[in-house]
Amino acid sequence: MIDYSVFCDNCKRLEGRVAAACQKRGRETASVRILPVTKTHPIDAAEYAARYGFGAVGENRVQELSEKFDSPRGRALKIEWELIGHLQTNKVKNAVARASRIQSVDSERLLSKIDAESEKIGKTMRILLQVNAGNDPAKFGADIEEAPALLEAALSKKNISVEGLMTIAPLDGGDSAAARCFENLRNLRDKLQDEFKTPLGELSMGMSGDLERAIEFGSTMIRVGTFLFGERDYSI
Ligand SMILES: *Cc1c(COP(=O)(O)O)cnc(C)c1O
Repeated sequence: MIDYSVFCDNCKRLEGRVAAACQKRGRETASVRILPVTKTHPIDAAEYAARYGFGAVGENRVQELSEKFDSPRGRALKIEWELIGHLQTNKVKNAVARASRIQSVDSERLLSKIDAESEKIGKTMRILLQVNAGNDPAKFGADIEEAPALLEAALSKKNISVEGLMTIAPLDGGDSAAARCFENLRNLRDKLQDEFKTPLGELSMGMSGDLERAIEFGSTMIRVGTFLFGERDYSI
């Protein structure tokens, strides 16, 4: 695990990248939020994020999120936990109990389960719909064509609040595939907002390697792991 001073340097460099990308596109720097992604790193990573002033961190597995959230050091932290990775229906209960937001909702089955579990504990679950906007065969997420039906289902759930869309750029295809993916997601968001007359303000897209492209196409939240915390340690 890196030292806190290195993390602070990385944050400053990242803020510089965000500011430059925003300036280039005529956007306010404050219109793009950074979600530090702490997966595979020890709880120190979430502590660093809280100490620096971030309000939330992202985890991609329910098991890991739960272990950190439930640990004594996790419980002492004033920070929110967002789930950004694939969610199986049998993990929904644990996710709903702990996550402030679930970014990876991609099926009506999941929506129903999330709604039911949220009802049980009197919570309104904040979610994003994950869309496979880059048509990546290796990725989770609803197809673009399925998105209207998915949104309609989400809006019908009493205990769910849909705040926007999330995507992950294709692993292959480089910068041009990422650009197409992000543009697709923004266009889909604009179309859905229009069609359903409902605000979908959050566009969660962009990671360490492609955040400038994501900001170009309207990202409001970039999810950044490697650039802030270094290479992931898969031994924990
Ligand atoms: C790991 C992960 C990230 C962060 O990726 P980096 O390239 O390390 O910045 C972002 N989003 C999701 C869904 C992830 O699983």
